[in-house]
Amino acid sequence: MSVLPKVVVKVIEEFERLPGVGPKSAARMAYHFLRSPNNDASKLAKNLLEMDENIVFCSKCFNVSEKEECDLCSSPLRDKSKLCIVEESLDIVAFENSGVYSGLYFVLGGVISPADGIGAEELRFADLKKRVKELTSENDLEIIVATNPSLEGEATMAYIQDLLKGVEKVSITRLAMGLPTGADLEYADSLTLRRALEGRKKV
Ligand SMILES: [Zn+2]
Repeated sequence: MSVLPKVVVKVIEEFERLPGVGPKSAARMAYHFLRSPNNDASKLAKNLLEMDENIVFCSKCFNVSEKEECDLCSSPLRDKSKLCIVEESLDIVAFENSGVYSGLYFVLGGVISPADGIGAEELRFADLKKRVKELTSENDLEIIVATNPSLEGEATMAYIQDLLKGVEKVSITRLAMGLPTGADLEYADSLTLRRALEGRKKV
């Protein structure tokens, strides 16, 4: 039997499921909310609910969005001859903050990683192919593969090459390896991202 009330245990268990959070941090977070005089728990709960209800994945690029088609995909200012493939939405934030890229994006939803049980069927390759066909019906298209420079990122790159083999009007480039192997794009600074993008190579 736990000495803590059931609901507190449940909250700690929920926090423990968050990425990078262990049992101790989870307990500390729960106690933070218990002690907070500012209704922090209610505010967090309200925002989480609102996020759950109002945020969807863009039907074209799968970025998080408030609309069926996100602001990036619907903007007439974006260069529709470039499609940058990233692992997660947060990578888009890194690119956008750096201001070095003005094309479109596609969020794959991860990388192929047999060790973590993630195969090609878990990722959005079918949607990617559909999107590439859509875009190439209007323009030539450069696909910039911006998966992280890890083993999994490289395996995913090879899969994309294979997937798009023979698709007309497509050229594929890979970010230059200015990024250290295993580095997370999400945390790369603007200068590193600019170099990686400017030094990209045709594959
Ligand atoms: Zn979009």
